[in-house]
Amino acid sequence: MAVIIDGKQLAQKVRSNLKIKCDELKSKGINPKLAVILVGDDKSSKIYVKNKNKACEEVGIDFVEYILDGEKTTQEELINLIKKLNEDKSIHGILLQSPIPDHLDINEAFRTISPDKDVDGFNPVNVGKLCIGQDTFISCTPHGVMKMFEEYNIKLEGKRLVIIGRSNIVGKPLIQTCLSKNATVTVCHSKTKNLAEITSQADILIVAIGRAKFVTENMVKQGAVVIDVGINRTQEGKVVGDVDFENVEKKASYITPVPGGVGPMTVAMLMNNVIKAASNN
Ligand code: NAD
Repeated sequence: MAVIIDGKQLAQKVRSNLKIKCDELKSKGINPKLAVILVGDDKSSKIYVKNKNKACEEVGIDFVEYILDGEKTTQEELINLIKKLNEDKSIHGILLQSPIPDHLDINEAFRTISPDKDVDGFNPVNVGKLCIGQDTFISCTPHGVMKMFEEYNIKLEGKRLVIIGRSNIVGKPLIQTCLSKNATVTVCHSKTKNLAEITSQADILIVAIGRAKFVTENMVKQGAVVIDVGINRTQEGKVVGDVDFENVEKKASYITPVPGGVGPMTVAMLMNNVIKAASNN
């Protein structure tokens, strides 16, 4: 049976440590503050923003939310709001909750967020810095996964590490973070042939696809570390990951559950990035 990586507990520990740092900043007259922009009324996005607000409260970070109309908001209005927040010295971190409506250009919006306040790590300047190993804001989910490896003393050096998924927010930054720890990294995606053959060679398998229970026992090597980033809702309304947990757990050495795995760590690392932004001030 695998060791279950408890993301909920670990996130709690990260938040407690950040609270101490936050208090230190406050004693120096710096009040860390996060601005979140939500465009439209996507149900999941609202839940994510609520969770971020709650985590901010726990750490002691000020939180301000800008809710924009999903139909009427123009690109110019969105960009102007970001520019205003860039200039506001009381704000340390800016987050644009995705997805945003199709008529808006999210790439331009990410480009506009000042790299110094880009706590999601989506500005191309920060993406570039990550690629060449410079200090930057690492996007929160990959950052959370790396923190799990660190806390559970899972070494990446020399390991065969396979990532399934190549999104800009999870798969691609994970390539860099894992490479920087000297893993031998392979990336698989929807066009990969013989997927199971590749994944079953992995010492460490990270899955970020968005398909319920996609990774089955036969795709996993005995003793592998399995990190499940996926969040899927079944027809019965249950939240499950991309990994068939019940069966893969029997074969893995370590595994993350869903919920209670990577999800809480993502929010914790956002808090980490806001404190970092405020400290850099
Ligand atoms: P995405 O839709 O942007 O990308 C999915 C990736 O999976 C693509 O690169 C695609 O090539 C790959 N893929 C799809 N079908 C595949 C298949 N059959 N075989 C191999 N590869 C396949 O998704 P994303 O934004 O990276 O999110 C992935 C999952 O992670 C979703 O369930 C999402 O909800 C979840 N997620 C969780 C967190 C968290 O905090 N836990 C954060 C972000 C995303």
